Amino acid sequence: MSTQTIESRSPQDQSDVVVSAPAADREAVAATFTRAREAQKEWKRNAVVRADALAAAAAAVDAAKDQIVDLMVREVGKPLTESVMEHGRAVRILRYQAQAALDPDGDTLPAAPPADPRTLLLARRRPRGVAGLITPWNFPFAIPLWKAAPALAYGNAVVLKPSSDALASALLLEEILAKHLPEGVFNVVAGGGETGQAVIEQADVISFTGSTNVGLQVAQAATARGIPAQAEMGGLNASIVLPDADVAAAAKVIAGAAMGYAGQKCTATGRVIVLGDPAEFTDALAAAVDALPVGDPKDSSTVVGPVINPPAREELVTAATGAPQDGGRVVTGGQALDGPGLFFSPTVVDGQEPTAKLAQEEVFGPIVTILKASSAEQAVEISNSVAFGLVTSVFTSDLDSALTVVDGLETGMIRVNMPTSGVDFHAPFGGEKQSSFGPREQGKAARDHYTTTHTITIGPAG
Ligand code: NAD
Repeated sequence: MSTQTIESRSPQDQSDVVVSAPAADREAVAATFTRAREAQKEWKRNAVVRADALAAAAAAVDAAKDQIVDLMVREVGKPLTESVMEHGRAVRILRYQAQAALDPDGDTLPAAPPADPRTLLLARRRPRGVAGLITPWNFPFAIPLWKAAPALAYGNAVVLKPSSDALASALLLEEILAKHLPEGVFNVVAGGGETGQAVIEQADVISFTGSTNVGLQVAQAATARGIPAQAEMGGLNASIVLPDADVAAAAKVIAGAAMGYAGQKCTATGRVIVLGDPAEFTDALAAAVDALPVGDPKDSSTVVGPVINPPAREELVTAATGAPQDGGRVVTGGQALDGPGLFFSPTVVDGQEPTAKLAQEEVFGPIVTILKASSAEQAVEISNSVAFGLVTSVFTSDLDSALTVVDGLETGMIRVNMPTSGVDFHAPFGGEKQSSFGPREQGKAARDHYTTTHTITIGPAG
Protein backbone atom coordinates (compact mmCIF):
# COMPACT_ATOMS: atom_id res chain seq x y z
CA MET A 1 0.00 0.00 0.00
CA SER A 2 1.17 3.51 -0.74
CA THR A 3 1.59 5.81 2.24
CA GLN A 4 0.86 8.95 0.22
CA THR A 5 -2.48 10.52 1.04
CA ILE A 6 -4.45 12.56 -1.45
CA GLU A 7 -6.45 15.40 0.03
CA SER A 8 -8.90 17.67 -1.70
CA ARG A 9 -9.73 20.93 0.09
CA SER A 10 -12.40 23.46 -0.72
CA PRO A 11 -11.01 26.66 -2.29
CA GLN A 12 -13.73 28.58 -0.45
CA ASP A 13 -12.61 27.24 2.93
CA GLN A 14 -9.17 25.66 3.11
CA SER A 15 -9.99 24.00 6.43
CA ASP A 16 -12.73 22.01 4.69
CA VAL A 17 -11.20 18.69 3.60
CA VAL A 18 -13.67 17.43 1.01
CA VAL A 19 -12.06 14.01 0.76
CA SER A 20 -8.87 12.29 1.77
CA ALA A 21 -7.76 8.94 0.34
CA PRO A 22 -4.59 6.90 -0.14
CA ALA A 23 -2.96 7.25 -3.54
CA ALA A 24 -3.07 4.11 -5.67
CA ASP A 25 0.44 2.74 -6.18
CA ARG A 26 1.61 0.78 -9.25
CA GLU A 27 0.32 -2.53 -7.92
CA ALA A 28 -3.08 -1.09 -7.10
CA VAL A 29 -3.32 0.51 -10.55
CA ALA A 30 -2.27 -2.77 -12.20
CA ALA A 31 -4.92 -4.65 -10.21
CA THR A 32 -7.58 -2.13 -11.28
CA PHE A 33 -6.61 -2.63 -14.93
CA THR A 34 -6.80 -6.38 -14.52
CA ARG A 35 -10.38 -6.06 -13.23
CA ALA A 36 -11.25 -3.61 -16.00
CA ARG A 37 -9.78 -5.89 -18.66
CA GLU A 38 -11.84 -8.79 -17.40
CA ALA A 39 -15.04 -6.71 -17.34
CA GLN A 40 -14.38 -5.34 -20.83
CA LYS A 41 -14.58 -8.82 -22.37
CA GLU A 42 -18.33 -8.93 -21.83
CA TRP A 43 -18.96 -5.18 -22.07
CA LYS A 44 -17.64 -5.02 -25.64
CA ARG A 45 -20.01 -7.70 -26.88
CA ASN A 46 -23.36 -5.96 -27.03
CA ALA A 47 -23.87 -2.35 -28.15
CA VAL A 48 -27.56 -2.35 -27.24
CA VAL A 49 -26.73 -3.32 -23.66
CA ARG A 50 -24.18 -0.50 -23.55
CA ALA A 51 -26.67 2.01 -24.95
CA ASP A 52 -29.23 1.03 -22.31
CA ALA A 53 -26.69 1.17 -19.48
CA LEU A 54 -25.38 4.58 -20.53
CA ALA A 55 -28.93 5.92 -20.88
CA ALA A 56 -29.66 4.71 -17.34
CA ALA A 57 -26.43 6.35 -16.16
CA ALA A 58 -27.54 9.62 -17.81
CA ALA A 59 -30.86 9.46 -15.94
CA ALA A 60 -29.04 8.77 -12.66
CA VAL A 61 -26.64 11.68 -13.15
CA ASP A 62 -29.66 13.85 -13.95
CA ALA A 63 -31.44 12.73 -10.80
CA ALA A 64 -28.37 13.44 -8.65
CA LYS A 65 -28.33 17.09 -9.73
CA ASP A 66 -28.36 18.69 -6.27
CA GLN A 67 -25.68 16.40 -4.89
CA ILE A 68 -23.43 16.91 -7.93
CA VAL A 69 -23.88 20.68 -8.06
CA ASP A 70 -23.28 21.11 -4.31
CA LEU A 71 -20.13 19.02 -4.46
CA MET A 72 -18.79 20.88 -7.51
CA VAL A 73 -19.32 24.24 -5.79
CA ARG A 74 -17.63 22.97 -2.64
CA GLU A 75 -14.75 21.01 -4.12
CA VAL A 76 -13.53 23.28 -6.95
CA GLY A 77 -15.30 26.57 -6.11
CA LYS A 78 -17.19 26.67 -9.39
CA PRO A 79 -19.92 29.32 -9.09
CA LEU A 80 -23.37 27.83 -8.63
CA THR A 81 -24.79 28.99 -11.99
CA GLU A 82 -21.89 27.45 -13.90
CA SER A 83 -22.02 24.29 -11.80
CA VAL A 84 -25.67 23.84 -12.79
CA MET A 85 -24.66 24.28 -16.44
CA GLU A 86 -21.87 21.73 -16.11
CA HIS A 87 -24.26 19.24 -14.56
CA GLY A 88 -26.62 19.73 -17.53
CA ARG A 89 -23.77 19.18 -19.94
CA ALA A 90 -22.71 16.01 -18.13
CA VAL A 91 -26.20 14.58 -18.58
CA ARG A 92 -26.32 15.51 -22.28
CA ILE A 93 -22.91 13.97 -22.94
CA LEU A 94 -24.10 10.67 -21.48
CA ARG A 95 -27.39 10.76 -23.41
CA TYR A 96 -25.61 11.56 -26.66
CA GLN A 97 -22.92 8.91 -26.25
CA ALA A 98 -25.53 6.31 -25.21
CA GLN A 99 -26.98 6.67 -28.70
CA ALA A 100 -23.52 6.73 -30.33
CA ALA A 101 -23.12 3.13 -29.14
CA LEU A 102 -25.67 2.22 -31.83
CA ASP A 103 -23.99 4.10 -34.69
CA PRO A 104 -22.75 2.05 -37.67
CA ASP A 105 -19.52 0.36 -36.63
CA GLY A 106 -17.91 0.24 -40.03
CA ASP A 107 -18.17 0.29 -43.82
CA THR A 108 -18.51 -2.25 -46.60
CA LEU A 109 -16.38 -1.71 -49.66
CA PRO A 110 -16.26 -3.27 -53.13
CA ALA A 111 -13.51 -5.88 -53.22
CA ALA A 112 -10.90 -5.44 -55.93
CA PRO A 113 -10.54 -8.04 -58.69
CA PRO A 114 -9.56 -10.83 -58.94
CA ALA A 115 -11.72 -11.35 -55.83
CA ASP A 116 -15.08 -12.98 -56.45
CA PRO A 117 -17.66 -10.15 -56.86
CA ARG A 118 -19.67 -11.66 -53.97
CA THR A 119 -16.75 -11.02 -51.62
CA LEU A 120 -17.50 -8.88 -48.59
CA LEU A 121 -14.78 -6.37 -47.82
CA LEU A 122 -15.48 -4.85 -44.42
CA ALA A 123 -13.79 -2.19 -42.35
CA ARG A 124 -15.11 -2.72 -38.88
CA ARG A 125 -14.39 -0.75 -35.73
CA ARG A 126 -13.50 -2.41 -32.47
CA PRO A 127 -12.84 -0.97 -29.03
CA ARG A 128 -9.21 -0.59 -28.07
CA GLY A 129 -9.51 -2.24 -24.65
CA VAL A 130 -9.10 -0.32 -21.40
CA ALA A 131 -8.86 3.46 -21.70
CA GLY A 132 -6.70 5.35 -19.19
CA LEU A 133 -8.14 8.81 -18.57
CA ILE A 134 -6.15 11.51 -16.78
CA THR A 135 -8.14 14.64 -16.02
CA PRO A 136 -7.79 18.13 -14.50
CA TRP A 137 -9.88 19.62 -11.70
CA ASN A 138 -11.61 22.47 -13.49
CA PHE A 139 -14.51 20.54 -15.08
CA PRO A 140 -14.77 17.74 -12.54
CA PHE A 141 -17.78 16.04 -14.12
CA ALA A 142 -17.88 17.18 -17.77
CA ILE A 143 -14.26 16.35 -18.68
CA PRO A 144 -14.18 12.84 -17.15
CA LEU A 145 -17.49 12.16 -18.87
CA TRP A 146 -16.62 13.57 -22.27
CA LYS A 147 -13.80 11.04 -22.29
CA ALA A 148 -15.42 8.14 -20.44
CA ALA A 149 -18.82 8.21 -22.17
CA PRO A 150 -17.53 7.67 -25.74
CA ALA A 151 -14.86 5.23 -24.50
CA LEU A 152 -17.60 3.17 -22.85
CA ALA A 153 -20.09 3.57 -25.70
CA TYR A 154 -17.64 2.02 -28.16
CA GLY A 155 -16.99 -0.94 -25.87
CA ASN A 156 -13.93 0.01 -23.84
CA ALA A 157 -13.59 -0.20 -20.07
CA VAL A 158 -12.26 2.89 -18.29
CA VAL A 159 -9.76 3.68 -15.56
CA LEU A 160 -10.01 7.34 -14.58
CA LYS A 161 -7.27 9.13 -12.67
CA PRO A 162 -8.77 12.48 -11.73
CA SER A 163 -6.93 15.50 -10.40
CA SER A 164 -6.35 15.31 -6.64
CA ASP A 165 -8.22 18.63 -6.37
CA ALA A 166 -11.37 17.00 -7.81
CA LEU A 167 -11.15 13.53 -6.31
CA ALA A 168 -14.45 13.65 -4.43
CA SER A 169 -16.32 14.56 -7.65
CA ALA A 170 -14.79 11.59 -9.48
CA LEU A 171 -15.65 9.26 -6.62
CA LEU A 172 -19.26 10.46 -6.65
CA LEU A 173 -19.39 9.85 -10.39
CA GLU A 174 -18.03 6.33 -9.84
CA GLU A 175 -20.66 5.69 -7.18
CA ILE A 176 -23.49 6.84 -9.46
CA LEU A 177 -22.26 4.98 -12.55
CA ALA A 178 -21.58 1.79 -10.58
CA LYS A 179 -25.33 1.29 -10.12
CA HIS A 180 -25.88 1.14 -13.88
CA LEU A 181 -22.69 -0.28 -15.41
CA PRO A 182 -21.32 -3.78 -14.89
CA GLU A 183 -18.73 -4.07 -12.16
CA GLY A 184 -15.20 -3.17 -13.26
CA VAL A 185 -16.21 -1.26 -16.37
CA PHE A 186 -15.72 2.23 -14.91
CA ASN A 187 -13.02 2.65 -12.26
CA VAL A 188 -11.43 5.57 -10.45
CA VAL A 189 -7.89 5.53 -9.05
CA ALA A 190 -6.80 8.28 -6.65
CA GLY A 191 -3.35 9.78 -6.91
CA GLY A 192 -1.05 12.37 -8.44
CA GLY A 193 1.60 12.19 -11.16
CA GLU A 194 3.02 8.81 -10.15
CA THR A 195 -0.40 7.20 -10.27
CA GLY A 196 -0.90 8.87 -13.66
CA GLN A 197 2.33 7.29 -14.91
CA ALA A 198 1.17 3.90 -13.63
CA VAL A 199 -2.05 4.34 -15.62
CA ILE A 200 -0.04 5.06 -18.78
CA GLU A 201 1.99 1.87 -18.20
CA GLN A 202 -1.19 -0.25 -18.23
CA ALA A 203 -3.63 1.41 -20.63
CA ASP A 204 -4.48 0.47 -24.21
CA VAL A 205 -5.34 4.09 -25.06
CA ILE A 206 -4.74 7.34 -23.17
CA SER A 207 -6.74 10.52 -23.04
CA PHE A 208 -5.35 13.41 -21.00
CA THR A 209 -6.50 16.94 -20.25
CA GLY A 210 -4.39 19.34 -18.23
CA SER A 211 -1.37 21.60 -18.48
CA THR A 212 0.96 21.57 -21.48
CA ASN A 213 4.04 20.51 -19.50
CA VAL A 214 2.35 17.42 -18.12
CA GLY A 215 0.43 16.70 -21.34
CA LEU A 216 3.59 16.53 -23.44
CA GLN A 217 5.15 14.12 -20.93
CA VAL A 218 2.01 11.99 -20.99
CA ALA A 219 1.95 11.90 -24.80
CA GLN A 220 5.64 10.96 -24.86
CA ALA A 221 5.25 8.15 -22.31
CA ALA A 222 2.23 6.76 -24.16
CA THR A 223 3.80 6.90 -27.61
CA ALA A 224 6.96 5.25 -26.20
CA ARG A 225 4.69 2.30 -25.35
CA GLY A 226 3.13 2.44 -28.80
CA ILE A 227 -0.37 3.21 -27.56
CA PRO A 228 -2.54 5.99 -28.98
CA ALA A 229 -2.62 9.17 -26.92
CA GLN A 230 -4.67 12.28 -26.96
CA ALA A 231 -3.71 15.30 -24.86
CA GLU A 232 -5.75 18.46 -24.48
CA MET A 233 -3.49 21.03 -22.90
CA GLY A 234 -3.11 24.70 -22.08
CA GLY A 235 -4.24 27.77 -23.93
CA LEU A 236 -3.55 31.48 -24.07
CA ASN A 237 -6.60 32.43 -26.01
CA ALA A 238 -7.05 35.76 -27.73
CA SER A 239 -10.06 37.86 -28.55
CA ILE A 240 -9.49 40.18 -31.50
CA VAL A 241 -11.55 43.38 -31.46
CA LEU A 242 -11.82 44.98 -34.90
CA PRO A 243 -12.70 48.67 -35.35
CA ASP A 244 -16.27 47.94 -36.51
CA ALA A 245 -17.09 45.86 -33.40
CA ASP A 246 -19.76 46.95 -30.93
CA VAL A 247 -17.24 47.91 -28.24
CA ALA A 248 -19.59 47.82 -25.24
CA ALA A 249 -21.05 44.45 -26.23
CA ALA A 250 -17.61 42.98 -26.97
CA ALA A 251 -16.21 44.23 -23.65
CA LYS A 252 -19.04 42.60 -21.72
CA VAL A 253 -18.63 39.24 -23.47
CA ILE A 254 -14.84 39.32 -23.11
CA ALA A 255 -15.06 40.24 -19.40
CA GLY A 256 -17.17 37.11 -18.82
CA ALA A 257 -14.87 34.90 -20.89
CA ALA A 258 -11.73 36.16 -19.14
CA MET A 259 -13.00 36.23 -15.58
CA GLY A 260 -15.93 33.81 -15.26
CA TYR A 261 -15.06 30.90 -12.90
CA ALA A 262 -12.02 33.02 -11.99
CA GLY A 263 -10.58 32.52 -15.50
CA GLN A 264 -9.97 28.83 -14.83
CA LYS A 265 -11.14 27.41 -18.14
CA CYS A 266 -8.74 26.24 -20.81
CA THR A 267 -10.86 28.36 -23.18
CA ALA A 268 -10.74 31.54 -21.04
CA THR A 269 -9.59 34.75 -22.74
CA GLY A 270 -6.03 35.66 -21.68
CA ARG A 271 -5.24 38.26 -24.33
CA VAL A 272 -7.31 40.90 -26.08
CA ILE A 273 -5.91 42.31 -29.31
CA VAL A 274 -7.45 45.64 -30.22
CA LEU A 275 -7.06 47.08 -33.69
CA GLY A 276 -6.35 50.83 -33.52
CA ASP A 277 -6.49 52.95 -30.36
CA PRO A 278 -7.46 50.63 -27.49
CA ALA A 279 -8.47 53.44 -25.05
CA GLU A 280 -12.24 53.19 -25.49
CA PHE A 281 -12.21 49.39 -25.33
CA THR A 282 -9.88 49.37 -22.30
CA ASP A 283 -12.25 51.63 -20.35
CA ALA A 284 -15.23 49.51 -21.38
CA LEU A 285 -13.48 46.25 -20.42
CA ALA A 286 -12.35 47.61 -17.04
CA ALA A 287 -15.91 48.77 -16.30
CA ALA A 288 -17.38 45.41 -17.37
CA VAL A 289 -14.81 43.51 -15.27
CA ASP A 290 -15.38 45.70 -12.21
CA ALA A 291 -19.12 45.01 -12.49
CA LEU A 292 -18.67 41.22 -12.20
CA PRO A 293 -19.80 39.87 -8.83
CA VAL A 294 -16.87 38.29 -6.96
CA GLY A 295 -17.70 36.11 -3.99
CA ASP A 296 -18.92 32.90 -2.47
CA PRO A 297 -19.49 30.32 -5.24
CA LYS A 298 -22.63 29.13 -3.44
CA ASP A 299 -24.27 32.47 -4.25
CA SER A 300 -26.22 32.25 -7.52
CA SER A 301 -25.17 35.78 -8.52
CA THR A 302 -21.43 35.05 -8.21
CA VAL A 303 -19.49 35.06 -11.47
CA VAL A 304 -15.95 35.05 -10.08
CA GLY A 305 -15.30 32.59 -7.26
CA PRO A 306 -12.05 31.62 -5.56
CA VAL A 307 -9.05 30.12 -7.37
CA ILE A 308 -8.35 26.44 -6.85
CA ASN A 309 -5.43 26.36 -4.42
CA PRO A 310 -2.80 28.56 -2.72
CA PRO A 311 -0.06 28.01 -5.38
CA ALA A 312 -2.53 29.10 -8.10
CA ARG A 313 -3.16 32.35 -6.24
CA GLU A 314 0.58 32.88 -5.67
CA GLU A 315 1.12 32.54 -9.41
CA LEU A 316 -1.46 35.27 -10.01
CA VAL A 317 0.16 37.61 -7.49
CA THR A 318 3.51 37.07 -9.23
CA ALA A 319 1.99 37.68 -12.67
CA ALA A 320 0.25 40.90 -11.61
CA THR A 321 3.21 42.32 -9.72
CA GLY A 322 5.53 41.37 -12.60
CA ALA A 323 3.38 43.06 -15.24
CA PRO A 324 4.70 46.64 -14.69
CA GLN A 325 8.31 45.40 -14.94
CA ASP A 326 7.31 43.91 -18.26
CA GLY A 327 6.00 47.20 -19.69
CA GLY A 328 2.42 46.85 -18.43
CA ARG A 329 -0.02 48.93 -16.39
CA VAL A 330 -2.51 47.27 -14.08
CA VAL A 331 -5.77 48.90 -15.18
CA THR A 332 -7.90 47.19 -12.57
CA GLY A 333 -7.47 44.42 -9.99
CA GLY A 334 -4.06 42.91 -9.36
CA GLN A 335 -4.48 41.80 -5.76
CA ALA A 336 -5.24 38.81 -3.60
CA LEU A 337 -8.47 39.56 -1.73
CA ASP A 338 -9.36 38.77 1.86
CA GLY A 339 -10.90 35.35 2.44
CA PRO A 340 -12.24 33.05 3.64
CA GLY A 341 -11.92 31.88 0.00
CA LEU A 342 -8.80 32.04 -2.18
CA PHE A 343 -9.89 35.15 -4.08
CA PHE A 344 -7.91 37.18 -6.58
CA SER A 345 -9.36 40.37 -8.00
CA PRO A 346 -10.20 40.19 -11.71
CA THR A 347 -7.24 41.88 -13.36
CA VAL A 348 -6.80 43.83 -16.59
CA VAL A 349 -3.33 44.82 -17.76
CA ASP A 350 -2.52 46.99 -20.78
CA GLY A 351 0.45 48.60 -22.50
CA GLN A 352 2.48 45.43 -22.98
CA GLU A 353 4.20 44.15 -26.09
CA PRO A 354 3.04 40.79 -27.49
CA THR A 355 6.39 39.35 -26.33
CA ALA A 356 5.66 40.10 -22.64
CA LYS A 357 5.47 37.13 -20.28
CA LEU A 358 1.76 37.59 -19.65
CA ALA A 359 1.16 37.65 -23.40
CA GLN A 360 3.14 34.44 -23.95
CA GLU A 361 2.61 32.17 -20.93
CA GLU A 362 -0.65 30.77 -19.57
CA VAL A 363 -1.62 31.95 -16.08
CA PHE A 364 -4.64 29.96 -15.02
CA GLY A 365 -6.76 32.65 -13.39
CA PRO A 366 -8.67 35.94 -13.78
CA ILE A 367 -6.05 38.03 -15.61
CA VAL A 368 -6.05 39.42 -19.13
CA THR A 369 -3.64 41.62 -21.07
CA ILE A 370 -4.75 44.09 -23.74
CA LEU A 371 -2.44 44.32 -26.75
CA LYS A 372 -2.50 46.77 -29.63
CA ALA A 373 -2.42 45.98 -33.36
CA SER A 374 -2.19 48.37 -36.27
CA SER A 375 -3.78 46.12 -38.90
CA ALA A 376 -5.97 43.04 -39.09
CA GLU A 377 -2.97 41.11 -40.43
CA GLN A 378 -0.92 42.14 -37.41
CA ALA A 379 -3.76 41.18 -35.06
CA VAL A 380 -3.75 37.69 -36.57
CA GLU A 381 0.05 37.54 -36.31
CA ILE A 382 -0.07 38.48 -32.62
CA SER A 383 -2.81 35.96 -31.96
CA ASN A 384 -0.68 33.27 -33.62
CA SER A 385 2.55 34.34 -31.89
CA VAL A 386 2.13 32.02 -28.88
CA ALA A 387 3.00 28.35 -28.44
CA PHE A 388 -0.68 27.52 -27.87
CA GLY A 389 -3.54 27.23 -30.35
CA LEU A 390 -6.79 26.38 -28.62
CA VAL A 391 -9.38 29.04 -29.45
CA THR A 392 -9.63 32.60 -30.76
CA SER A 393 -12.64 34.86 -30.96
CA VAL A 394 -13.12 37.79 -33.31
CA PHE A 395 -15.45 40.71 -32.68
CA THR A 396 -16.66 42.54 -35.78
CA SER A 397 -19.82 43.51 -37.60
CA ASP A 398 -18.22 43.12 -41.01
CA LEU A 399 -18.49 39.71 -42.65
CA ASP A 400 -15.50 40.17 -44.97
CA SER A 401 -13.22 41.16 -42.08
CA ALA A 402 -14.44 38.16 -40.11
CA LEU A 403 -13.77 35.81 -43.01
CA THR A 404 -10.28 37.19 -43.61
CA VAL A 405 -9.24 37.02 -39.96
CA VAL A 406 -10.79 33.59 -39.40
CA ASP A 407 -8.82 32.24 -42.35
CA GLY A 408 -5.46 33.22 -40.84
CA LEU A 409 -5.93 31.97 -37.28
CA GLU A 410 -3.95 28.96 -36.08
CA THR A 411 -6.32 27.73 -33.39
CA GLY A 412 -8.43 24.60 -33.32
CA MET A 413 -11.55 26.60 -32.59
CA ILE A 414 -12.50 30.00 -33.94
CA ARG A 415 -15.54 31.97 -32.83
CA VAL A 416 -17.02 35.19 -34.18
CA ASN A 417 -18.80 37.62 -31.83
CA MET A 418 -18.72 34.88 -29.22
CA PRO A 419 -16.70 34.37 -26.06
CA THR A 420 -13.57 32.19 -26.38
CA SER A 421 -15.11 30.04 -23.65
CA GLY A 422 -17.94 27.63 -24.36
CA VAL A 423 -17.92 24.09 -25.67
CA ASP A 424 -20.47 22.16 -27.72
CA PHE A 425 -20.40 18.56 -26.51
CA HIS A 426 -21.45 17.24 -29.94
CA ALA A 427 -18.86 19.16 -32.02
CA PRO A 428 -15.16 18.30 -32.41
CA PHE A 429 -13.08 19.91 -29.67
CA GLY A 430 -9.33 20.49 -29.64
CA GLY A 431 -6.48 22.81 -30.46
CA GLU A 432 -3.35 23.24 -32.51
CA LYS A 433 0.34 23.46 -31.57
CA GLN A 434 0.98 22.91 -27.83
CA SER A 435 -2.71 23.00 -26.96
CA SER A 436 -3.43 19.54 -28.36
CA PHE A 437 -1.84 16.28 -29.28
CA GLY A 438 -3.69 13.56 -31.13
CA PRO A 439 -7.21 13.42 -32.50
CA ARG A 440 -10.13 15.64 -31.51
CA GLU A 441 -12.46 14.92 -28.60
CA GLN A 442 -16.25 14.93 -28.32
CA GLY A 443 -19.07 14.35 -30.77
CA LYS A 444 -18.46 11.83 -33.52
CA ALA A 445 -14.77 12.78 -33.50
CA ALA A 446 -14.28 10.83 -30.26
CA ARG A 447 -14.86 7.55 -32.08
CA ASP A 448 -11.50 7.71 -33.87
CA HIS A 449 -9.62 7.71 -30.59
CA TYR A 450 -11.51 4.96 -28.79
CA THR A 451 -11.79 2.49 -31.66
CA THR A 452 -9.44 0.80 -34.07
CA THR A 453 -10.43 -0.42 -37.52
CA HIS A 454 -10.03 -4.01 -38.67
CA THR A 455 -10.23 -4.79 -42.36
CA ILE A 456 -12.01 -8.10 -42.93
CA THR A 457 -12.36 -9.84 -46.28
CA ILE A 458 -14.89 -12.70 -46.59
CA GLY A 459 -14.93 -14.64 -49.82
CA PRO A 460 -17.19 -17.51 -50.97
CA ALA A 461 -15.99 -21.03 -50.08
CA GLY A 462 -16.33 -22.39 -53.60
P1 NAD B 1 -2.23 19.36 -14.48
O1 NAD B 1 -1.47 19.21 -15.75
O2 NAD B 1 -1.47 19.82 -13.28
O3 NAD B 1 -2.89 17.97 -14.07
C1 NAD B 1 -3.72 17.26 -14.97
C2 NAD B 1 -3.75 15.79 -14.57
O4 NAD B 1 -2.47 15.21 -14.81
C3 NAD B 1 -4.04 15.55 -13.09
O5 NAD B 1 -4.88 14.44 -12.97
C4 NAD B 1 -2.66 15.28 -12.52
O6 NAD B 1 -2.67 14.53 -11.33
C5 NAD B 1 -2.04 14.49 -13.65
N1 NAD B 1 -0.56 14.46 -13.66
C6 NAD B 1 0.30 15.37 -13.14
N2 NAD B 1 1.57 15.00 -13.41
C7 NAD B 1 1.51 13.85 -14.12
C8 NAD B 1 2.48 12.99 -14.70
N3 NAD B 1 3.78 13.24 -14.60
N4 NAD B 1 2.05 11.91 -15.38
C9 NAD B 1 0.73 11.63 -15.51
N5 NAD B 1 -0.23 12.41 -14.99
C10 NAD B 1 0.15 13.50 -14.30
O7 NAD B 1 -3.47 20.33 -14.80
P2 NAD B 1 -4.55 20.95 -13.81
O8 NAD B 1 -3.89 21.98 -12.93
O9 NAD B 1 -5.35 19.89 -13.17
O10 NAD B 1 -5.54 21.71 -14.86
C11 NAD B 1 -5.27 22.98 -15.36
C12 NAD B 1 -4.65 22.92 -16.75
O11 NAD B 1 -5.50 22.14 -17.61
C13 NAD B 1 -4.53 24.26 -17.45
O12 NAD B 1 -3.28 24.34 -18.08
C14 NAD B 1 -5.64 24.24 -18.48
O13 NAD B 1 -5.42 25.06 -19.60
C15 NAD B 1 -5.70 22.81 -18.83
N6 NAD B 1 -7.00 22.42 -19.38
C16 NAD B 1 -7.07 22.15 -20.73
C17 NAD B 1 -8.29 21.80 -21.31
C18 NAD B 1 -8.37 21.50 -22.78
O14 NAD B 1 -9.34 20.86 -23.17
N7 NAD B 1 -7.43 21.93 -23.60
C19 NAD B 1 -9.44 21.72 -20.50
C20 NAD B 1 -9.32 22.00 -19.13
C21 NAD B 1 -8.09 22.33 -18.59
